[in-house]
Amino acid sequence: MVEGMYVPTISDVFRARRVLNGLLPPTPMWSYAALSATVTAAEVFVKHENVQPTGAFKVRGGLTLLAGMGPDERARGIVGYSTGNHAQSLAYAAAWAGATCLIVMPENPNPAKAAAVRALGAEVVEAGATFEGAWEAADKIAAERGARLVSAANEPELIAGVGTAYLEVFEQNPDLDVVVVPVGGGSGAAAACLVAAAVAPGCEIVAVQAAGSPGAHDSWRSGEIVNRPNQTSAEGLATGSGFELTQQIMRSQLADFLLVDDDTIRHAQWLLLRDAHTLAEGAGAAAVAALLAFPQRFAGRRVAVMCTGANASEMELSRVVAHRS
Ligand SMILES: *Cc1c(COP(=O)(O)O)cnc(C)c1O
Repeated sequence: MVEGMYVPTISDVFRARRVLNGLLPPTPMWSYAALSATVTAAEVFVKHENVQPTGAFKVRGGLTLLAGMGPDERARGIVGYSTGNHAQSLAYAAAWAGATCLIVMPENPNPAKAAAVRALGAEVVEAGATFEGAWEAADKIAAERGARLVSAANEPELIAGVGTAYLEVFEQNPDLDVVVVPVGGGSGAAAACLVAAAVAPGCEIVAVQAAGSPGAHDSWRSGEIVNRPNQTSAEGLATGSGFELTQQIMRSQLADFLLVDDDTIRHAQWLLLRDAHTLAEGAGAAAVAALLAFPQRFAGRRVAVMCTGANASEMELSRVVAHRS
């Protein structure tokens, strides 16, 4: 158990959906014959969270969290730490709620993501060499300001909000065998577990993280929170350890947890561009990379892959196109 931390339920996901109705339309989920033919799974469905207004699924959680804050708490503002998409989600939601927002990013962030956060009206501070360093700095700033520190994953409202993506997935296709979810902090995979258990209990949830940053994977495998090197270039997957709340949910309900290397992720980005005319950042292509790396695990099955985000830097995109094969 996480000391004092509320574990969200399917009712919280339905409540979040009421909040998000009218703020975010459902995202499409399409099957592409060319993509299904390239990977060996029987049929691949791409859930397009890359078309969210911030370019990633996290905005569902950010809006849900800000909607639940009262006027006093909003006035004190929020502080987040993020490699990018959580930051954009919080900045977007804070602008919607009229709250101030400060984001600590690890030094030398993806310039496209930093610029997008500033454009949404949030203050950006660069501190720390990694995600963990940014976390420490954010903690300090939030304490100084009396603002609310928003964790990347130990937040029940974020999980509930993100869960609405999985309600859509099972409405859009009630006959899925597997949903593959890229993992950083684990809010997406935890939400998928909660929703599948309630509305699609026969469907497996399979998580995927980058081999260069296996903190969440190794925490799940070992059953305890462990720290690991954090070296992947796929920012959304770059966490150095597991988070208590999401690990607790995944521990009982996740079917499997896979690791993929950055080259396979890059190839998956290229396949999404070519076969699904879809722009995915590295983390957004990790689920497709899992199908490429473990074809026998998915053969003959109906598989939804979460295309979690589109916020690739120019340099990343030029590498994807240069390394195509
Ligand atoms: C944050 C993020 C992830 C990982 O999600 P978690 O909920 O932190 O596990 C995957 N893909 C993208 C694009 C992200 O921004």
